[in-house]
Amino acid sequence: MEQCLLEKYRDFLPVTPQTPLITIGEANTPLVRSQTLERELGCGELYFKLEGCNPTGSFKDRGMVVAVAKAVEAQTPAIICASTGNTSASAAAYGAACGLDVFVVVPKGNIAMGKLAQALAYGAKILTIDDNFDKALELVLILAQKLPVALVNSLNPHRIEGQKTAAFEIVDALGSAPDYLFIPVGNAGNITAYWKGFKHYKQAGKNDNTPKMMGFEAEGAAAIVRDKVITDPKTVASAIRIGNPASWKGAVAAKDESGGMIDCVSDEEILSAYKLLACKEGIFGEPASAASVAGLIKLRASGQDFSAKKVVCVITGTGLKDPDTTIQTTKTPAELPADLDILEKEILKSS
Ligand SMILES: *Cc1c(COP(=O)(O)O)cnc(C)c1O
Repeated sequence: MEQCLLEKYRDFLPVTPQTPLITIGEANTPLVRSQTLERELGCGELYFKLEGCNPTGSFKDRGMVVAVAKAVEAQTPAIICASTGNTSASAAAYGAACGLDVFVVVPKGNIAMGKLAQALAYGAKILTIDDNFDKALELVLILAQKLPVALVNSLNPHRIEGQKTAAFEIVDALGSAPDYLFIPVGNAGNITAYWKGFKHYKQAGKNDNTPKMMGFEAEGAAAIVRDKVITDPKTVASAIRIGNPASWKGAVAAKDESGGMIDCVSDEEILSAYKLLACKEGIFGEPASAASVAGLIKLRASGQDFSAKKVVCVITGTGLKDPDTTIQTTKTPAELPADLDILEKEILKSS
């Protein structure tokens, strides 16, 4: 059997002899080479890190396995989080696997269907509030202080520790760090975690370079880019619809220390990259995931040259979580009579 994340990277994680080595199959996700966009964008090498292949369909599982293992170790009976969807799905799964009560506070009407279905399926207690993610997080922070529940949002440092293992896997797969890492930025925990991972692995002698960290917010939720809290964040990419990122400082440090950037992409650019990724690469990420690719396309269009560079785009979650966006943004096929001639004509017409 493969070693689980907690075992494989235990020297880099807060794992003690008392930490239960729980797993539901997280991490060890594929790093695939681009089939089309590498050539079309003129990148030296372009890879996608497919975090949608985690057990609940997003990278959140890497951090959650550590946060939940530590909660079990501390004998906490319950966990709580605020969520735009993926954190709640992941908390619900790991909580279920460990017999913990799980409470998730989600913003009303703002959570993708597949993610809500996951939290329900895993048996979490869902508390829907009449406000946005930032308010949900504010309330959860207070509840976690008052009640015997462990906070498992990325303010929990164990989440960041677990998430940094994705950087280790990229270095292990490529034999070095890439030149550029493109990544969506919402609450900014993941960009913080990757940067920490590349630095720790370098200290351990695994890579002697580190990538420029290229973080992309959604234009309607670009708090870091605009250097101000956005009180009513708006974007089609619900996983990054966050107006006051918890790891704001971590993201800015990652950008500054690595010589990278934090920029933003419009919903149009996100949806265009989302479709390209599916139609040209066979990779169906959720809209927020496409912000990384949208960022690369934007920089390329502005004349930046990646021809001698190794580039990795992180595809943070699977598109199956948010089927509504696909259906709403794609032409759905008309119904046809069950007739051989008509079907044959249709096929010939479109080939
Ligand atoms: C959580 C999430 C993000 C944003 O990550 P942060 O750590 O909040 O910046 C992006 N994409 C997906 C699919 C996510 O679940």
